[in-house]
Amino acid sequence: MVLSMQKSFERFYLKKMNNIELRTENEPDVSSTDETSLLVIIIDTNPTQKLLRDKASQLTTVVDSVIAFANSHLMQKAQNKLAIMACHSKTSQFVYPGPRKPVDVRQVDGQYEIFLQVEKTVKQNLSLLLASENSTIATESLLAGAIAMALCYIARIQRTKSAGIKLNSRILIVSGSGDSASQYMNYMNVFFTAQKQNVVLDVCTLDQHLSLLQQGCDITNGLYLKVPQVSALLQFLLWVFLPEPPIREKLVLPPPVKVDYRAACFCHRELIDIGYVCSVCLSIFCKFSPICTTCHTVFKIPGPLAVKSKKKKMKL
Ligand SMILES: [Zn+2]
Ligand SMILES: [Zn+2]
Repeated sequence: MVLSMQKSFERFYLKKMNNIELRTENEPDVSSTDETSLLVIIIDTNPTQKLLRDKASQLTTVVDSVIAFANSHLMQKAQNKLAIMACHSKTSQFVYPGPRKPVDVRQVDGQYEIFLQVEKTVKQNLSLLLASENSTIATESLLAGAIAMALCYIARIQRTKSAGIKLNSRILIVSGSGDSASQYMNYMNVFFTAQKQNVVLDVCTLDQHLSLLQQGCDITNGLYLKVPQVSALLQFLLWVFLPEPPIREKLVLPPPVKVDYRAACFCHRELIDIGYVCSVCLSIFCKFSPICTTCHTVFKIPGPLAVKSKKKKMKL
């Protein structure tokens, strides 16, 4: 009896094993090990943003939350890649991996060395960057430039990766700055480049609504979120931005907000609802001008002739 049972078990397992072998032979190899995820985080460190002007120590909360979030991304899969950038008022810089030689770390309290290395490198490079730039003149954060740098970095990693590995790239922006319509064209250029390169753009805003970056999220299928409290930043990052874009469809995430698709006029760099568009180069203006300032096309001034002819017809 026992022997027969053992035999039937053996047969069952053999059958199962054969099935498994058959499946791997017939289907293409879709094991998760050949997919890696590259995350580029852009932290807005501009000292003139309202959030930091009110309370400078909030930058520590933001940086600590971002580092914990970045390490969670690395923890998800051994192959995952990470880069962190600081976007300042005059320059944007990579803080991890930094421009200098990587910091030497030894294991402390059983912590994984790479986590400690991320933390030490980011903090060291950030303090160097903050010390080097100490201007009090209010300038906009160069977010469009930082996104462009991140896209170049992603393109380089994509080019140098070994064949057969699928790289999913995304950019996360953590900013407390306001909307900067002066960079409208730069924003549109980076958004459509990201869309073409299949890079997802996520935005986590800490203070004000950013309608231009919201458009970027919508164009690249990313997520846009305004965090109600800076102290809760890590929770929001882990909940909303840690899952990969394909997994997000299965999760209950904050509902998408209506995207404000206003464009900035080329004359004053202000967001407008209704304006004039040059029929030749599609430049946008808030007021009518007989000559397009971008392509120098001359337009006829619209006269009141049409109204006169209408009146005549009515008399007849
Ligand atoms: Zn204008
Ligand atoms: Zn034009």
